[in-house]
Amino acid sequence: MPLLTQTTYFVSKARQKGEKMEIKRHIKYESHMNVREEKGVTYLAWPELEKLPGVIHGFSTRLGGVSQGIYASMNLSFTRGDEEACVRENYRRIAEAMGFSPEDIVTSDQTHTTNIRTVVWEDRGNGITKPRPYKDIDGMVTNVPGVVLATFYADCVPLYFVDPAKRAIGLSHSGWRGTAGRIGEVTVKKMKEEYASRPEDIYSAIGPSICQDCYEVSGDVIDAFCKTFEKKYWDRLFYSKEGGKYQLDLWEANRIILLDSGIREDHILMPGLCTCCNPDFLFSHRASKGKRGNLGAFLGLKKED
Ligand SMILES: [Zn+2]
Repeated sequence: MPLLTQTTYFVSKARQKGEKMEIKRHIKYESHMNVREEKGVTYLAWPELEKLPGVIHGFSTRLGGVSQGIYASMNLSFTRGDEEACVRENYRRIAEAMGFSPEDIVTSDQTHTTNIRTVVWEDRGNGITKPRPYKDIDGMVTNVPGVVLATFYADCVPLYFVDPAKRAIGLSHSGWRGTAGRIGEVTVKKMKEEYASRPEDIYSAIGPSICQDCYEVSGDVIDAFCKTFEKKYWDRLFYSKEGGKYQLDLWEANRIILLDSGIREDHILMPGLCTCCNPDFLFSHRASKGKRGNLGAFLGLKKED
């Protein structure tokens, strides 16, 4: 069972000065994300990825935006009923905080597929400054500097990929369907095909998402996982409860998939943060019963000077 520890985080600029927010961290794994605060926006980042030159990355929190009510405050969804002007301002703020422009962003069209799009320069702005010319895209890869990939979350698992050797990146949305479809492995394959990436060079990170303690599922979900994962892994992935329900560990499932893809264990970074355990800090579909905005995962290669 994951260990939980409480961290008191002082929200100074993003909210009222001196206001305290408790953050529950899972310390089962060594690696975890750091809380960053830039220009009044609070976001999360892995220290290991920040050390890689030419890479921009981060994961948004609820703090530092202008949206109200169930969307408060950093909602990045244009399609969940929030005011468009607020979402646009939120994008301006998060981009400024992480060091890129809203025009650089290329967004996914997440429908729980394992479809991966190879993103090129002409895709910049898709879903932000212009409509997306594609549908059903849950993962993206690119090697184009100046492009920032963006995928969206409120409990599902973000997967980041950085190949510093071939200067290529990938970003994929892995909910239970994507995990059962092994989208992490599909993304690594795509990076091999497109950029000749070697799995042993790739750094991968599992972003903030629902933890096993919070993730109750029914038997049909477990059936899908039993088809995808060898029996030797089952005890690590889920346990059964009364009433035909199970608790499923999507973090461990994705970690196994990344290891199976050839990624080194010490190159796999864990979130240490659950969306559902921290519903004031992060949007959680389960904790809010669907009344929520979207968090954003961002990953890009810096423009060459
Ligand atoms: Zn949790």
